[in-house]
Parts: sequence; structure tokens; C-alpha cells
Amino acid sequence: ATPPPPRNEPVRDYAPGSPERASLRETLTAMRGEEMMVLPVVNGERVETGRTETIRPPHDLGHTLGTFHKARTEDVERAIRGALDARHDWSRMDWSDRAAIFLKAAELLAGPFRDRMNAATMLGQSKNPYQAEIDAACEMVDFFRFNVAFYREMMEEQPQSPAGVWNRTEYRPLEGFVFAVSPFNFTSIAANLPTAPALLGNTVLWKPAPTQTYSAQVIVELLQAAGLPPGVIQFLPGDGPDVGDPVLASEHLAGLHFTGSTQTFNHLWREIGNNLDHYNAYPRIVGETGGKDFIVAHESADPEAVATAIVRGSFEYQGQKCSAASRIYVEEALWPAVRESLEAQLAEITVGPVEDFSHFVNAVIDEKAYDKITGYVDRAAQADNVEVVHGGTHSKEDGYFVDPTVLLTDDPSYETMEQEIFGPVASVFVSDRSFDDLLDLVDSTSPYALTGAVFARDRAVLAHATDRLADAAGNFYLNDKPTGAVVGQQPFGGARGSGTNDKAGSKLNLLRWASLRSLKETF
Ligand code: GLU
Repeated sequence: ATPPPPRNEPVRDYAPGSPERASLRETLTAMRGEEMMVLPVVNGERVETGRTETIRPPHDLGHTLGTFHKARTEDVERAIRGALDARHDWSRMDWSDRAAIFLKAAELLAGPFRDRMNAATMLGQSKNPYQAEIDAACEMVDFFRFNVAFYREMMEEQPQSPAGVWNRTEYRPLEGFVFAVSPFNFTSIAANLPTAPALLGNTVLWKPAPTQTYSAQVIVELLQAAGLPPGVIQFLPGDGPDVGDPVLASEHLAGLHFTGSTQTFNHLWREIGNNLDHYNAYPRIVGETGGKDFIVAHESADPEAVATAIVRGSFEYQGQKCSAASRIYVEEALWPAVRESLEAQLAEITVGPVEDFSHFVNAVIDEKAYDKITGYVDRAAQADNVEVVHGGTHSKEDGYFVDPTVLLTDDPSYETMEQEIFGPVASVFVSDRSFDDLLDLVDSTSPYALTGAVFARDRAVLAHATDRLADAAGNFYLNDKPTGAVVGQQPFGGARGSGTNDKAGSKLNLLRWASLRSLKETF
């Protein structure tokens, strides 16, 4: 059975007056009044654990969206047993039957589920309609469709067979279960982390970020509607140690599929290392972590294109993308024109709640993030060697709002040039060094290597920078912002301290969830 060739889901624009916009608004309003109960789902059954937390929109703290119940150790232990039981039938199912479930999920999401997934992402994670659409609708649909296509391609790779012999490669799921730990910032990643391993016949324990449980619940609804059998993906919202400790202690842990902070990834990896003697097999570890992503602008670059890349790359979704541009290097001769365009573009941008639909910048995810980001912003305002070019202001009265902030510093090792902030803060260093020295500075400034962009009109400069910065970014952009990778177009992931670089949405990633068996039969 050959599934249809994958195609990227077209992005809807929700233009004023359009029926799509009216329908999204209607769903959003209905969901605001719904009081959703987000519950762990173990073996297909929702479990009220009584350990509750209130869910509020980050941009409207006076409103309650619902409640989530946190998984307890006993729920996790039951989920492990259930996942091991479910593996028997799931892994033996014909691959095309598993694939059909995710292709159906893609079609349901492209159609009837689209508004609900987008509205949940807007309300729960404070994304404007466009940011929700490219993530919760398009990218999630793309993950489902393309993973099926990559899986098929992967299985078609079969060894040579000389006369009298039939050699085969069997792409078996890992023996045990996979642990998926997902971040708040992309609903699509939250869906991809458990579903990519599941497609290959693995069963999965999925712990979403506590700040993304609202849209995570809608993913669970979607997968159930698509016919995913109970126990294949066990949904375990909750606190890190409550969920993680029993999982890491199980001898059946076969893999970790992670996106989130470097600190948490390192912790999990160390724990797995400490338990190594105890596991039945070496767990596969796949993780995408932090970034300190750069834009370098050569003096030959188009200044307006550079400014647009800063505005979009640094401030879309409040800079809370691992890929967000946060350290910007501009050659001296170009800076006045970049600055002028930047200030003109930023003057047009508004900050506010998602219900308005028109705000480019919405709230940051929670108080912890707000305090961390505003700490950097406030210190910068006091620092002698920093000029606040734009923003610098913030308020948490109604929601966690931080205005898009551009800092200019003559110190390329100032804290905001080096540390990951994960908020709407872009730091600019204007360079009077040689371009080669500048590239060396870019390469050596950060332990991360997730995304980066270089701008130049001169083709030779682009080629030179691409070579010189070969290891500085897993996703490298020439004359474009470093965010917004599209599944099937720019496989996404970073090297160095940014993760294992097993590209999300690629055959490479799927291969990590397969345990290959070579079969040789002689006749
Ligand atoms: N894939 C996203 C992008 O290219 C970033 C994913 C992340 O933040 O982890 O912008």
C-alpha cells in the first residue's frame, strides 16, 4: 500500500471579513466559556487525580480556561504496564494501518479540528491567529503526513540479495516504551514527540509541559477521533519528578524523545546514565534543547530585509521559539539604515491579548518566564554599555506582557548577547572588525548551534560565511530569518549544545525509533 505523496498544508490568512476568521472567533469564544478538564489518560481512560491546577490564558490572568489534573506516581506506573501490554498488538499491526490513523488525524485537523486546535493554542499559549495556524494547524498536519511518507521510504531501503539468498531489513519498534517530553512553545512539537515513535509501532508515555496542557488535551481528542487504540500513547500531564522518576526507573525505558530546556535534557540524560545497568537495552536519546540564534549582516546586505528578519525572527511568538534570533551582528556601514527601518517597523507593532486578533506580540508564557525576561530588560536599562533602542517596558497587571525590546551594546559578551533569554529581546552588536573576525566571534560566542542567518547581497560573502559557520547552526539561513522551518522543506534541529540534531520531521528522526533486524534466508 502506497500512501498519497505528502504536501504541506496551506496556511490560512484569517483575513478580516473572511468566513474562516468568523469561524475561528466563534470557536475561541465558545472555548473561553467551556471550563475544560484536562485529565491524564491511561489505557484510554481519563483519570481524575484530584491534584489540580487552574489553567489561565497568559494574556488574561483574570479568566479561567479550565483545570488540569496532575498524574501521580501510581498513574505513571499503571501507564507503563499498559504501554507494554498495548505494544503487543500495536507493533504487530500492518504498518499501513498505523499510518492510516495518523493520515486520518491530519485530515481531521486540516478540517473539523482546525479551529479548536488553533483556538486552544491561542488561549492556552498566547499565540496570535497566524502563529497558531502555522504551528497547531499546518505544522502538525505536516508532521503527520510527512512522517508517514518518510517511514515508507525508510522501509523501502532493503539490502542486496545475491543468488540463492533473500536478505531483508526489518524495521522493528524499540523493545520497551518511549518517553516523550514536550515543550510549551509549539503544539505541533507536542504532537510530534509522541506520535513519531508511535507510528513505527512503539508505545509511548507522553508528558506535556505543564503550561501546554490545554492544547495538549485537544491533541488527545484528535488522536482518539482518528482511531488511535487505547494505551498506545499514555497522556501524563504533571510535574517533572512525579512523572519522570518512575519512568526513568523502569527497566523498559527504550527511548527519550525530548524538546525543552538544556537543563532538563541534561538532567534526564544523567539520570538515564545513572540507571544504565538497570535497563534491558540502551535507551535511544533524541533531544532538541536551547539556542542563542544569530543574524549576521554584511555591509552589502539589504538593510530593510535585515530589519524585517529581526522583527519577525526575534519577536514573533514573543521570541519564545528555540529558533528565535537573539544576537544580531551588523557591520558598521549598514547599521544606520537597519536601525531606521527597524524603528519604523517596530512603531507599527502592537502588543496585547490574542482575542483582538491584530496584535503581533502577545503575552509570554508564565510568571517565571516574565520575571526572567524582565530581569534582563531591567538590568540592560541600567547598564552603562547598553542603549535601549526600542521597548524596555513591561507589565503583568492583566497578563505577562513584555514589549519587544532591542538593545544595542558595544560589548559582544554582554549577558544578553550570550545567554538564552527566550523572550522578545534582541541584542545588537555593531561591528567595526573585519568580516572574518566577526564570523569568528559569532562562531565562538555560544555553546549552542541551533539556527543562524547571514545577510549579504554579495554571493561570495554568503558562500564564505556558510563555510566559516559550518558548525554554528543546524539550520542556517541565507538572506532569511532563522525561524519558521517547514516540515519537508527545512528539517529542523541543532548541534553542539542545542541537541542531538536528529532533525524533527525527517527520516533521520524516525530511524531513531526503529530497532533494525537483519534477516538472511538461504534457499
Ligand atoms: N521549528 C521551529 C522554527 O523553525 C522552532 C522549534 C522550536 O522552538 O523548538 O521556528
